[in-house]
Amino acid sequence: MQAASQPAATPTPDDVFVWDTTLLTGIDSVDQQHHHLVDLFNALNRAMFHGQALSPQAQQATFEELLAYAARHFDDEERLMVDAGVDQRHRELHARLHREFVAQVRSMWDTRGHLRQPGETLMGFLTSWLGLHIMGVDQSMARQIERIRHGMHPAQAYQQEEDPRDRRVANLLRMVGQLYHVLAAQNQDLMEANAQLEQRVRERTAELEAANRRLEAFSRIDGLLGIANRGYFEHRLREEVARHARQQRPLALVMVDVDHFKRYNDHYGHQAGDACLRAVATALASVVQRETDLLARYGGEELVLLLSDTHGEGARVVAERAVAAVRALGLPHAASETAPVVTISAGACARVPRDPADGAALVQAADAALYEAKRQGRNRAVLCPGDEAAATPQA
Ligand code: GH3
Ligand code: MG
Ligand code: MG
Repeated sequence: MQAASQPAATPTPDDVFVWDTTLLTGIDSVDQQHHHLVDLFNALNRAMFHGQALSPQAQQATFEELLAYAARHFDDEERLMVDAGVDQRHRELHARLHREFVAQVRSMWDTRGHLRQPGETLMGFLTSWLGLHIMGVDQSMARQIERIRHGMHPAQAYQQEEDPRDRRVANLLRMVGQLYHVLAAQNQDLMEANAQLEQRVRERTAELEAANRRLEAFSRIDGLLGIANRGYFEHRLREEVARHARQQRPLALVMVDVDHFKRYNDHYGHQAGDACLRAVATALASVVQRETDLLARYGGEELVLLLSDTHGEGARVVAERAVAAVRALGLPHAASETAPVVTISAGACARVPRDPADGAALVQAADAALYEAKRQGRNRAVLCPGDEAAATPQA
């Protein structure tokens, strides 16, 4: 591995980690790689926090380069220990520390968004880890390699690390290392718990949103007929009146009422009456075609069709289709004096609204036309007088 193919960067005042001869192990290839790692730490620090922080993509790239370099360096070191014949006990410990570093730094990077001071935490972690690692296990490795080169048996070279002369510093380093290990593990647990908590919050939020959508849909829909209710009709009427007034387009309304429905209930029973109303609603749903059209229950056995962008003639056609569709159901109505089957009457009107209050006027006009249809003998559609001309801009 070409450790120091790039010359070591000149230290800048922003550097958080200053290379220092106390960090030397005496093994050139290892020292060069350590030095390069320190340079990469400082580069990441500059990329993230100093002067002009780089883009997130550039920061990510710098981080990946650092981690890839660290991984290659660890491989080199582990191979060096095998080649030199370092005692297996040391090699295992050393390799475990390498693996932990990669896992810890990766998870810390991925969750840095949750850290209160990501810069200090991340840089603190990297520099203290490397410093401790170099002064601890790396120096120990270097001493063992040196002894083996001078002919000592690897096991003895390993044992000498326990020598009373080295023991005080070694113990200190071990304790700091242990402390550090505990803190890192705790940090890892916290971040995992945090991630799980966030996941649960996301799931709960999605559930609540879905429940809200269901509630909203319920509040718009009539429980018996499964079509829009009066409240939603009023809401849409206001919206459509405003929109049609703005665009100066005709808005039409067809008011529908079941003929002799009181007698139907009296004759067939209230439950049959409910079923009849549902059948009527289904038949009327088939006559509204445009996405923006609305079929709603106005109240009792009265239903309403709101037809956007429809002039008088169009409204009359839809109203007549509605009357024909219900008649075509062929639901027997023995008590009706109009027909042997269930029929409806319809009143239609179409207006180009001028101001928001015109919604009420539209309903009143359709109601009046409906009354006229009843008066003329039911089972028919009547268009408001004058609407053919007034709201037939294309004709
Ligand atoms: P007309 O031809 O003049 O409209 O006569 P009608 O009997 O239909 O007129 P009226 O408005 O007097 O009667 C409406 C009836 O509709 C009375 C009411 O009991 C019934 N009705 C209203 N809502 C429902 C409902 O949800 N289910 C049932 N089964 N009947 C209902
Ligand atoms: Mg009726
Ligand atoms: Mg009625």
